[in-house]
Amino acid sequence: MKNIILFGPPGAGKGTQSEFLVEEFGFVHLSTGDIFRYNISNQTELGILAKKFMDEGRLVPDSVTIDMLSLELLKYPNSEGFLFDGFPRTKDQANALDSFLGERNLEITAMIGLEVPDEDLRLRLLERGKVSGRPDDANIEVIQKRLDTYYNETAVVKNHYEEVGKYISINGLGTIEQISIALKSEIGHL
Ligand code: ADP
Repeated sequence: MKNIILFGPPGAGKGTQSEFLVEEFGFVHLSTGDIFRYNISNQTELGILAKKFMDEGRLVPDSVTIDMLSLELLKYPNSEGFLFDGFPRTKDQANALDSFLGERNLEITAMIGLEVPDEDLRLRLLERGKVSGRPDDANIEVIQKRLDTYYNETAVVKNHYEEVGKYISINGLGTIEQISIALKSEIGHL
């Protein structure tokens, strides 16, 4: 069983590539952004709380995100492997994830980071904003805030897995298919 974290800045292609990886390897895909958006569209208490952070390009507080993820994990006691997308985004989230998995005698197999230059990310997110309906993609200031949040708070999470030899970097520039082939090959060899 492989448990993978797909890592990278906003717009790196994590959501797009996750779909191909689920198809290939049968992962349970846990995207915290998708779970928050589901809660927003259903106007749950969690959704109402998360929305104000997301609309500003800030992280939803760790306590809320970690509780949500732990409940989500409990729904899949028989998973053949998890694909985490958008989580962990802070050092505390990474520690929490390691301990949730540890309690079930599981661990992260690898963190795979999609590397894409900022300029390309801004353009991709603005393009996505034209069709996605996501308020956080529609405005260049919010996009910049999300990139700043990534570099200030999230990028360090890479060190957490690098220190234990579990970080793999993939070039996130290229066609969707090229990147998908590279990802499948890396994961296939783990
Ligand atoms: P992107 O990677 O394009 O920013 P996501 O769907 O992963 O898109 O995240 C959208 C927003 O949801 C983030 O900007 C943040 O506000 C919130 N969010 C998602 N995952 C987390 C997380 N692990 N911790 C805190 N906030 C999160």
